[in-house]
Amino acid sequence: FSPEELQCRINHNLEMLELQTDLRDVIYRDHLTQLFNRRYLFEKVEKQFRSAKSAGQSITMGVMDIDHFKRLNDSHGHAAGDAVLRGMSDVLQRALRGSDVFGRLGGEEFCVLLPDQSEAKARALAERLRTLLAAVPRPDGQLTISAGIASMRKGESIMQTLHRADLAMLKAKQSGRDAVCIADELR
Ligand code: GH3
Ligand code: MG
Ligand code: MG
Repeated sequence: FSPEELQCRINHNLEMLELQTDLRDVIYRDHLTQLFNRRYLFEKVEKQFRSAKSAGQSITMGVMDIDHFKRLNDSHGHAAGDAVLRGMSDVLQRALRGSDVFGRLGGEEFCVLLPDQSEAKARALAERLRTLLAAVPRPDGQLTISAGIASMRKGESIMQTLHRADLAMLKAKQSGRDAVCIADELR
């Protein structure tokens, strides 16, 4: 073979690799925040945690939703809303560990998956995040979130756990927002 041909093949492979990475980002990352998106969280993580579960590990899921976000969009415009979403994702990236999987579920909803952590620990994390998020600049007041926490039950899919975490989050909204609720504590 000629050195030219070798170089050509190497270049081609590098281009393909770059293209693959770009494609993966388009599919699995949220464009605005660069966090993992809903598709990633469901497609990839479901498999990943199914095996963790069979190894006897539990998973706790936290769902966070920004309070009165529509009001911010309406009063200060969509760009101001986008800036707050980015501010929130920066806080999550700095506050969470490499082993925690987290992302943007859509809109102003974010999700954190905590492998092998109790609901009590998840609550402590949510409370810490709530404090950190209060420092994100929001032009119409202080940024607050409502959060719901649920631990995956035996045989439950991520979708089912998410649903219970969502119900807990709605409970936090009903209780006056800026709060954290745990699914197992709902009556
Ligand atoms: P609550 O406290 O009950 O959660 O009220 P809310 O206003 O936060 O909730 P609601 O679901 O009524 O509003 C969510 C808003 O989020 C509506 C939608 O326009 C806005 N939104 C969704 N995605 C984006 C986005 O990417 N950028 C911006 N700026 N706004 C978004
Ligand atoms: Mg919402
Ligand atoms: Mg909201």
